[in-house]
Amino acid sequence: MPTTVPALLTDAAGAAFHRGTVERRDLGPHDVAIDIAFAGICHSDIHQAREEWGGAIFPMVPGHEIAGTVSAVGSEVERYAVGDRVGVGCFVDSCRECEYCLAGEEQFCLKGNVGTYNARGYDGEVTYGGYSTAVVVDERYVLRIPDGIELDVAAPLLCAGITTYSPLRHWGAGPGKRVAVVGLGGLGHMAVQLAHAMGAEVTVISRTRSKEEDGRRLGADHYVATSEEGALKALRNTFDLIINTVSADVDIDRLARTLRVGGSLVYVGAPSERQSFAVFSLIGGRRSVAGSNIGGIRETQEMLDFCGEHGIGAVVERIGADDVTAAYDRVVDGGARYRYVIDTATIPA
Ligand SMILES: [Zn+2]
Ligand SMILES: [Zn+2]
Repeated sequence: MPTTVPALLTDAAGAAFHRGTVERRDLGPHDVAIDIAFAGICHSDIHQAREEWGGAIFPMVPGHEIAGTVSAVGSEVERYAVGDRVGVGCFVDSCRECEYCLAGEEQFCLKGNVGTYNARGYDGEVTYGGYSTAVVVDERYVLRIPDGIELDVAAPLLCAGITTYSPLRHWGAGPGKRVAVVGLGGLGHMAVQLAHAMGAEVTVISRTRSKEEDGRRLGADHYVATSEEGALKALRNTFDLIINTVSADVDIDRLARTLRVGGSLVYVGAPSERQSFAVFSLIGGRRSVAGSNIGGIRETQEMLDFCGEHGIGAVVERIGADDVTAAYDRVVDGGARYRYVIDTATIPA
Protein backbone atom coordinates (compact mmCIF):
# COMPACT_ATOMS: atom_id res chain seq x y z
CA MET A 1 0.00 0.00 0.00
CA PRO A 2 1.33 3.46 -0.87
CA THR A 3 2.38 5.62 2.07
CA THR A 4 0.65 8.93 2.75
CA VAL A 5 3.13 11.66 3.71
CA PRO A 6 2.80 15.36 4.64
CA ALA A 7 3.59 17.84 1.86
CA LEU A 8 3.24 21.49 0.86
CA LEU A 9 0.92 21.81 -2.11
CA THR A 10 -0.18 24.54 -4.47
CA ASP A 11 -3.49 23.96 -6.26
CA ALA A 12 -3.34 26.42 -9.14
CA ALA A 13 -0.90 28.72 -10.94
CA GLY A 14 0.40 31.22 -8.39
CA ALA A 15 -1.84 30.02 -5.55
CA ALA A 16 -0.48 30.07 -1.98
CA PHE A 17 0.99 26.88 -0.55
CA HIS A 18 -0.99 24.87 1.96
CA ARG A 19 -0.33 21.79 4.04
CA GLY A 20 -1.69 18.50 2.78
CA THR A 21 -0.54 15.01 1.88
CA VAL A 22 0.68 13.03 -1.11
CA GLU A 23 1.15 9.31 -1.64
CA ARG A 24 4.56 7.74 -2.11
CA ARG A 25 4.73 4.42 -3.93
CA ASP A 26 5.49 1.08 -2.33
CA LEU A 27 9.17 0.37 -2.05
CA GLY A 28 10.20 -1.51 -5.21
CA PRO A 29 13.25 -3.79 -5.18
CA HIS A 30 15.55 -0.98 -6.40
CA ASP A 31 13.87 1.83 -4.45
CA VAL A 32 15.23 3.91 -1.61
CA ALA A 33 12.88 5.62 0.88
CA ILE A 34 14.24 8.94 2.08
CA ASP A 35 13.25 11.04 5.08
CA ILE A 36 13.66 14.55 3.70
CA ALA A 37 15.36 17.04 6.02
CA PHE A 38 15.63 20.08 3.74
CA ALA A 39 14.40 21.15 0.31
CA GLY A 40 15.86 24.15 -1.49
CA ILE A 41 13.72 26.69 -3.33
CA CYS A 42 14.98 26.93 -6.90
CA HIS A 43 13.83 29.69 -9.25
CA SER A 44 12.50 27.00 -11.57
CA ASP A 45 10.13 25.87 -8.78
CA ILE A 46 8.56 29.31 -9.03
CA HIS A 47 8.32 29.22 -12.82
CA GLN A 48 6.55 25.87 -12.62
CA ALA A 49 4.27 26.65 -9.65
CA ARG A 50 3.18 29.82 -11.45
CA GLU A 51 2.76 27.88 -14.71
CA GLU A 52 5.16 30.20 -16.51
CA TRP A 53 6.64 27.33 -18.49
CA GLY A 54 3.20 25.97 -19.52
CA GLY A 55 1.65 22.55 -18.93
CA ALA A 56 1.76 22.46 -15.13
CA ILE A 57 0.16 19.60 -13.21
CA PHE A 58 -1.85 20.65 -10.12
CA PRO A 59 -1.89 20.11 -7.26
CA MET A 60 1.89 20.48 -7.34
CA VAL A 61 4.56 19.74 -4.75
CA PRO A 62 7.75 21.39 -6.07
CA GLY A 63 11.27 20.72 -4.87
CA HIS A 64 14.27 19.24 -6.70
CA GLU A 65 16.99 20.17 -4.23
CA ILE A 66 16.40 17.41 -1.72
CA ALA A 67 18.63 16.34 1.17
CA GLY A 68 17.81 13.74 3.80
CA THR A 69 18.48 10.32 5.25
CA VAL A 70 17.67 6.84 3.97
CA SER A 71 14.84 5.32 6.02
CA ALA A 72 14.35 2.03 4.14
CA VAL A 73 15.74 0.21 1.11
CA GLY A 74 14.24 -2.29 -1.35
CA SER A 75 15.37 -5.91 -1.45
CA GLU A 76 17.81 -5.44 -4.36
CA VAL A 77 19.29 -2.07 -3.38
CA GLU A 78 23.10 -2.23 -3.40
CA ARG A 79 24.37 1.31 -3.11
CA TYR A 80 22.57 2.60 -0.03
CA ALA A 81 21.70 1.52 3.49
CA VAL A 82 19.38 2.85 6.19
CA GLY A 83 20.92 5.94 7.77
CA ASP A 84 22.93 7.07 4.74
CA ARG A 85 22.88 10.81 3.99
CA VAL A 86 21.54 11.27 0.48
CA GLY A 87 20.18 13.75 -2.00
CA VAL A 88 17.86 13.86 -4.99
CA GLY A 89 18.10 16.38 -7.80
CA CYS A 90 16.08 17.38 -10.85
CA PHE A 91 15.09 13.97 -12.22
CA VAL A 92 14.13 10.61 -10.75
CA ASP A 93 14.19 8.34 -13.79
CA SER A 94 15.35 8.19 -17.40
CA CYS A 95 15.16 5.63 -20.21
CA ARG A 96 18.54 4.08 -19.23
CA GLU A 97 19.22 2.93 -22.82
CA CYS A 98 19.63 5.94 -25.12
CA GLU A 99 23.13 7.13 -26.04
CA TYR A 100 23.03 9.89 -23.44
CA CYS A 101 21.76 7.72 -20.58
CA LEU A 102 24.46 5.17 -21.43
CA ALA A 103 27.02 7.98 -21.34
CA GLY A 104 25.82 9.07 -17.89
CA GLU A 105 24.27 12.26 -19.23
CA GLU A 106 20.69 11.47 -18.26
CA GLN A 107 19.82 15.17 -18.33
CA PHE A 108 19.78 14.82 -22.12
CA CYS A 109 17.80 11.53 -22.23
CA LEU A 110 16.22 11.21 -25.67
CA LYS A 111 13.01 9.73 -24.25
CA GLY A 112 12.89 12.62 -21.79
CA ASN A 113 13.89 12.04 -18.20
CA VAL A 114 11.24 12.04 -15.47
CA GLY A 115 11.23 15.30 -13.52
CA THR A 116 11.29 15.07 -9.74
CA TYR A 117 7.95 16.93 -9.69
CA ASN A 118 5.38 18.36 -12.09
CA ALA A 119 5.99 15.38 -14.35
CA ARG A 120 4.68 11.90 -15.02
CA GLY A 121 6.71 8.77 -14.53
CA TYR A 122 6.86 6.26 -17.38
CA ASP A 123 4.06 4.49 -15.47
CA GLY A 124 1.86 7.58 -15.86
CA GLU A 125 1.93 8.50 -12.15
CA VAL A 126 2.42 12.18 -11.29
CA THR A 127 5.67 12.96 -9.48
CA TYR A 128 5.76 15.08 -6.32
CA GLY A 129 8.92 16.82 -5.17
CA GLY A 130 10.82 17.69 -2.05
CA TYR A 131 8.48 20.09 -0.22
CA SER A 132 7.48 17.02 1.76
CA THR A 133 8.74 14.83 4.58
CA ALA A 134 9.56 11.73 2.55
CA VAL A 135 10.10 10.46 -0.98
CA VAL A 136 10.75 7.14 -2.74
CA VAL A 137 13.33 7.12 -5.55
CA ASP A 138 15.14 4.43 -7.55
CA GLU A 139 18.67 4.10 -6.18
CA ARG A 140 20.20 4.96 -9.58
CA TYR A 141 18.90 8.53 -9.19
CA VAL A 142 19.95 8.99 -5.56
CA LEU A 143 23.19 10.81 -4.66
CA ARG A 144 25.46 10.39 -1.65
CA ILE A 145 26.09 13.51 0.42
CA PRO A 146 29.65 13.57 1.85
CA ASP A 147 29.91 13.61 5.65
CA GLY A 148 31.56 17.02 5.72
CA ILE A 149 28.52 18.87 4.30
CA GLU A 150 25.52 19.69 6.48
CA LEU A 151 22.20 18.68 4.90
CA ASP A 152 20.78 22.22 4.75
CA VAL A 153 23.70 23.63 2.77
CA ALA A 154 23.90 20.45 0.69
CA ALA A 155 20.32 20.59 -0.62
CA PRO A 156 20.88 23.44 -3.13
CA LEU A 157 23.92 21.65 -4.55
CA LEU A 158 21.51 19.16 -6.17
CA CYS A 159 20.38 21.80 -8.69
CA ALA A 160 22.23 25.11 -8.28
CA GLY A 161 25.50 23.27 -7.60
CA ILE A 162 25.44 20.90 -10.56
CA THR A 163 23.99 23.54 -12.91
CA THR A 164 27.14 25.59 -12.46
CA TYR A 165 29.67 22.80 -11.86
CA SER A 166 28.92 21.02 -15.14
CA PRO A 167 29.68 23.96 -17.50
CA LEU A 168 32.72 24.97 -15.45
CA ARG A 169 34.12 21.45 -15.98
CA HIS A 170 32.99 21.14 -19.59
CA TRP A 171 34.61 24.44 -20.61
CA GLY A 172 37.77 23.76 -18.63
CA ALA A 173 37.70 26.18 -15.67
CA GLY A 174 40.95 25.76 -13.73
CA PRO A 175 44.36 27.26 -13.02
CA GLY A 176 45.37 29.87 -15.59
CA LYS A 177 41.78 30.41 -16.74
CA ARG A 178 39.78 33.57 -16.21
CA VAL A 179 36.12 32.92 -15.46
CA ALA A 180 33.40 35.56 -15.16
CA VAL A 181 30.14 34.88 -13.37
CA VAL A 182 27.27 37.15 -14.40
CA GLY A 183 24.78 37.59 -11.56
CA LEU A 184 25.32 36.73 -7.90
CA GLY A 185 22.17 34.86 -6.90
CA GLY A 186 21.35 31.23 -6.18
CA LEU A 187 23.29 29.97 -9.21
CA GLY A 188 25.97 32.67 -9.23
CA HIS A 189 27.01 32.24 -5.62
CA MET A 190 27.67 28.57 -6.35
CA ALA A 191 29.52 29.28 -9.61
CA VAL A 192 31.90 31.66 -7.81
CA GLN A 193 32.75 29.16 -5.08
CA LEU A 194 33.21 26.27 -7.50
CA ALA A 195 35.29 28.16 -10.07
CA HIS A 196 37.51 29.51 -7.28
CA ALA A 197 38.00 26.01 -5.83
CA MET A 198 38.90 24.71 -9.31
CA GLY A 199 41.73 27.23 -9.35
CA ALA A 200 40.38 29.75 -11.86
CA GLU A 201 40.69 33.52 -11.53
CA VAL A 202 37.11 34.61 -10.86
CA THR A 203 35.31 37.86 -11.65
CA VAL A 204 31.76 38.66 -10.58
CA ILE A 205 29.82 40.80 -13.06
CA SER A 206 26.83 42.33 -11.32
CA ARG A 207 24.63 45.35 -11.92
CA THR A 208 25.66 47.22 -8.75
CA ARG A 209 28.30 46.96 -6.02
CA SER A 210 25.72 45.86 -3.40
CA LYS A 211 27.01 42.28 -3.34
CA GLU A 212 30.72 43.01 -3.66
CA GLU A 213 31.64 41.95 -0.12
CA ASP A 214 29.71 38.70 -0.50
CA GLY A 215 31.29 38.03 -3.88
CA ARG A 216 34.80 38.43 -2.54
CA ARG A 217 34.05 36.34 0.53
CA LEU A 218 32.79 33.55 -1.75
CA GLY A 219 36.10 33.57 -3.63
CA ALA A 220 35.88 36.21 -6.37
CA ASP A 221 39.20 37.90 -7.23
CA HIS A 222 37.51 40.81 -9.00
CA TYR A 223 34.11 42.47 -8.96
CA VAL A 224 32.65 44.56 -11.77
CA ALA A 225 29.46 46.66 -11.64
CA THR A 226 27.90 47.11 -15.08
CA SER A 227 26.03 50.22 -13.89
CA GLU A 228 29.40 51.99 -13.88
CA GLU A 229 30.24 53.65 -17.21
CA GLY A 230 32.71 51.72 -19.36
CA ALA A 231 33.04 48.81 -16.91
CA LEU A 232 32.75 46.09 -19.56
CA LYS A 233 34.66 48.00 -22.20
CA ALA A 234 37.70 47.94 -19.93
CA LEU A 235 37.55 44.14 -19.89
CA ARG A 236 37.96 43.42 -23.59
CA ASN A 237 39.85 40.21 -24.34
CA THR A 238 39.84 39.11 -20.68
CA PHE A 239 37.78 35.98 -20.04
CA ASP A 240 38.11 32.39 -21.21
CA LEU A 241 34.62 31.59 -19.99
CA ILE A 242 31.57 33.55 -18.90
CA ILE A 243 28.81 31.79 -16.97
CA ASN A 244 25.62 33.80 -17.31
CA THR A 245 23.28 32.97 -14.42
CA VAL A 246 20.73 35.75 -14.80
CA SER A 247 17.30 35.04 -16.23
CA ALA A 248 16.80 38.63 -17.42
CA ASP A 249 18.03 39.97 -20.76
CA VAL A 250 21.75 40.75 -20.95
CA ASP A 251 23.76 42.63 -23.57
CA ILE A 252 25.36 39.67 -25.30
CA ASP A 253 27.48 41.83 -27.59
CA ARG A 254 29.11 43.74 -24.75
CA LEU A 255 29.68 40.54 -22.76
CA ALA A 256 31.03 38.58 -25.74
CA ARG A 257 33.65 41.23 -26.41
CA THR A 258 35.12 40.63 -22.94
CA LEU A 259 35.94 37.07 -24.09
CA ARG A 260 39.39 36.10 -25.29
CA VAL A 261 39.75 34.46 -28.70
CA GLY A 262 37.97 31.10 -28.52
CA GLY A 263 36.11 32.02 -25.34
CA SER A 264 32.55 30.96 -24.54
CA LEU A 265 29.56 32.72 -23.06
CA VAL A 266 27.44 30.00 -21.46
CA TYR A 267 23.81 30.43 -20.43
CA VAL A 268 22.59 28.61 -17.35
CA GLY A 269 19.93 31.21 -16.53
CA ALA A 270 16.89 31.14 -18.78
CA PRO A 271 15.50 34.50 -19.93
CA SER A 272 11.92 34.16 -21.16
CA GLU A 273 12.47 36.45 -24.16
CA ARG A 274 14.42 35.53 -27.29
CA GLN A 275 18.00 36.73 -27.09
CA SER A 276 19.85 38.37 -29.97
CA PHE A 277 23.36 39.44 -30.77
CA ALA A 278 25.49 40.80 -33.62
CA VAL A 279 27.34 37.97 -35.34
CA PHE A 280 30.45 40.16 -35.54
CA SER A 281 30.69 39.95 -31.73
CA LEU A 282 31.48 36.25 -32.20
CA ILE A 283 33.35 35.86 -35.48
CA GLY A 284 35.86 38.57 -34.61
CA GLY A 285 37.19 36.27 -31.87
CA ARG A 286 36.05 32.74 -32.79
CA ARG A 287 33.74 33.00 -29.79
CA SER A 288 30.73 30.88 -28.84
CA VAL A 289 27.40 31.49 -27.17
CA ALA A 290 26.28 28.24 -25.56
CA GLY A 291 23.91 26.75 -23.01
CA SER A 292 24.14 24.09 -20.31
CA ASN A 293 21.48 22.19 -18.36
CA ILE A 294 22.16 20.62 -14.91
CA GLY A 295 24.29 17.46 -15.17
CA GLY A 296 24.10 13.66 -15.15
CA ILE A 297 24.04 11.47 -12.05
CA ARG A 298 27.73 10.58 -12.25
CA GLU A 299 28.79 14.20 -12.58
CA THR A 300 26.41 15.27 -9.81
CA GLN A 301 28.12 12.79 -7.48
CA GLU A 302 31.50 14.10 -8.62
CA MET A 303 30.31 17.64 -7.79
CA LEU A 304 29.12 16.60 -4.32
CA ASP A 305 32.45 14.87 -3.61
CA PHE A 306 34.30 17.96 -4.86
CA CYS A 307 32.24 20.15 -2.51
CA GLY A 308 32.99 17.74 0.34
CA GLU A 309 36.73 17.95 -0.32
CA HIS A 310 36.73 21.74 -0.60
CA GLY A 311 34.25 22.51 2.18
CA ILE A 312 31.77 24.09 -0.21
CA GLY A 313 28.07 24.46 0.49
CA ALA A 314 25.31 26.85 -0.49
CA VAL A 315 24.73 29.97 1.59
CA VAL A 316 21.26 29.27 2.93
CA GLU A 317 18.49 30.75 4.99
CA ARG A 318 16.27 28.16 6.66
CA ILE A 319 12.56 28.83 6.45
CA GLY A 320 9.41 27.05 7.64
CA ALA A 321 6.37 25.82 5.74
CA ASP A 322 4.45 29.05 6.45
CA ASP A 323 7.16 31.18 4.82
CA VAL A 324 7.31 29.51 1.40
CA THR A 325 4.71 31.61 -0.41
CA ALA A 326 6.38 34.87 0.69
CA ALA A 327 9.85 33.47 -0.02
CA TYR A 328 8.84 32.99 -3.67
CA ASP A 329 8.27 36.74 -4.00
CA ARG A 330 11.61 37.51 -2.40
CA VAL A 331 13.43 35.17 -4.78
CA VAL A 332 11.78 36.86 -7.77
CA ASP A 333 12.72 40.29 -6.38
CA GLY A 334 16.34 39.18 -5.99
CA GLY A 335 16.19 39.37 -2.19
CA ALA A 336 17.41 35.85 -1.34
CA ARG A 337 20.89 35.60 0.23
CA TYR A 338 21.40 33.16 -1.43
CA ARG A 339 19.13 30.15 -1.19
CA TYR A 340 16.04 29.45 0.91
CA VAL A 341 15.80 25.92 2.22
CA ILE A 342 12.60 24.58 3.73
CA ASP A 343 12.98 22.77 7.04
CA THR A 344 10.59 19.92 6.31
CA ALA A 345 10.03 19.28 10.03
CA THR A 346 7.67 22.29 9.84
CA ILE A 347 5.45 20.72 7.18
CA PRO A 348 3.28 18.23 9.15
CA ALA A 349 0.02 19.90 10.23
ZN1 LIG B 1 16.48 23.95 -9.99
ZN1 LIG C 1 17.74 8.03 -22.07
